[in-house]
Amino acid sequence: MKTIQHFIDGKHADGTSGRHGEVTNPATGEVTGQVPLASASEVDTAISAAAKSFEFWGTASLAKRTQVMFNYRELVNAHRDEIAELITAEHGKVHSDALGEIARGLEIVELACGIPQLLKGETSTQVSTRVDVESIRQPVGVVAGITPFNFPAMVPMWMFPVALACGNTFVLKPSEKDPSATLRLVELAHEAGVPDGVINVVHGDKTAVDRLLEHPDVDAVSFVGSTPIAKHVHDTAGAHGKRVQALGGAKNHMLVLPDADLDQAADAAVSAAYGSAGERCMAVSVVVAVDPIGDELVGKIAERARALTIGPGDDPASEMGPLITAEHRDKVASYVPRAREQGAEVVVDGTGLVVEGHEGGFFTGVSLVDGVTPGMDVYADEIFGPVLAVVRAENYQEALALINRSRWGNGTAIFTRDGGAARRFQLEVRAGMVGVNVPIPVPVGYHSFGGWKDSLFGDHHIYGNDGVRFYTRGKVITTRWPDPSDGGIDLGFPSNS
Ligand code: NAD
Repeated sequence: MKTIQHFIDGKHADGTSGRHGEVTNPATGEVTGQVPLASASEVDTAISAAAKSFEFWGTASLAKRTQVMFNYRELVNAHRDEIAELITAEHGKVHSDALGEIARGLEIVELACGIPQLLKGETSTQVSTRVDVESIRQPVGVVAGITPFNFPAMVPMWMFPVALACGNTFVLKPSEKDPSATLRLVELAHEAGVPDGVINVVHGDKTAVDRLLEHPDVDAVSFVGSTPIAKHVHDTAGAHGKRVQALGGAKNHMLVLPDADLDQAADAAVSAAYGSAGERCMAVSVVVAVDPIGDELVGKIAERARALTIGPGDDPASEMGPLITAEHRDKVASYVPRAREQGAEVVVDGTGLVVEGHEGGFFTGVSLVDGVTPGMDVYADEIFGPVLAVVRAENYQEALALINRSRWGNGTAIFTRDGGAARRFQLEVRAGMVGVNVPIPVPVGYHSFGGWKDSLFGDHHIYGNDGVRFYTRGKVITTRWPDPSDGGIDLGFPSNS
């Protein structure tokens, strides 16, 4: 059993609160590690290290900060198999999927390598006689990052590379369910040349999070997790005067029009609904089938769903691994009989699956539920597991209205061959990220990621240009180098001439 440590001011540190959580291998059900749950005073120590290091990191040259990011990119790339193994051991996702999240995280490191270009200010010369104006962006200070279990590498990498490259220092509170990959990424950042105190990791639960939200020396908070906690983080950090972006949960709809290629649509639905056991904020959890293709599409999805190989993430034959905990697995599975009771048709029932040799693992098979309506729990809740609901709609208008009534608006997708319909959808749908024949439209690093409605609280999306704006604040400098003839008292409001 391993003992996981905090990482504060460039050094590992044992927990001193006397509280800890258990880390489990979801494929076997065995407890493999103990993670300390920080007290408020341990969080204070990390914040104080970050605040002290901001004094030099906030003014470190762009050349220095960029060099560190280039080193970091090489190191993460060299260690990606090791990090993927840590992810699989504590999260459960299959190795190839773990490598995929590292690759998407690396995109943000690459964005951060180009920070000099992104931080270039704007200058206007001679806005008035002998007066120039310059707009610059400066780091905000100490940033706290609070991350979910489902992407222990990618989501932290959405945050700290951009924050650090902009000159901020960082305190990261990873998910206590699978903290080892996140900790390893931070150790590598230190190895790449990020100085002591510039990036710190404190493990913990609500006690640690609430201290970060209230501490006067934290200037900004980036959060990714479930909607209720995102709202809590947004409101609490905001009440304490901090800049905050809080990304929440989702229920992503994939709209299939009758003219779509149904084989491609079925492939996409299966990949996006069941990949990572449905534990993705961009997973497709609802397919909206527009008449008359519903029966044919459901048949194609069912055929593919039944053929999936489910097993431990470190077995190359497995396409889908276990869920994160036994409680979560049981909660996910409970939606299937409930959907049946509420009038839906369970086409594929994956509940009760036992994987031979891994009887203690937190596995469930994949489920497909047809004839779902908005009043059913299987539609109304974010299940966060491999349960795909199919809703039938008579036409595009009815399908769009359904999607737009959802309380969430993270990602959505349309499958069609009709360019005009796709264009209408991308303009009319109320969601932050839209895919046209792309089921999981996670934007590339140089665009930005974020949802609408209950999927994001705050004004800024994460990474891309929005990330740079979130982690910096503007300053505008107006300069005059006067001639001897300038001067004289004028009590009027300064005007330009
Ligand atoms: P979660 O909200 O339970 O936990 C997220 C973080 O908040 C963790 O670090 C956790 O320790 C902390 N936390 C948990 N309870 C808390 C409390 N009461 N007070 C303060 N902090 C608390 O989320 P999760 O289960 O780890 O992750 C899954 C959720 O995250 C899903 O809802 C998923 O949709 C969402 N998610 C969203 C995005 C996005 O980009 N919008 C990305 C990934 C995951």
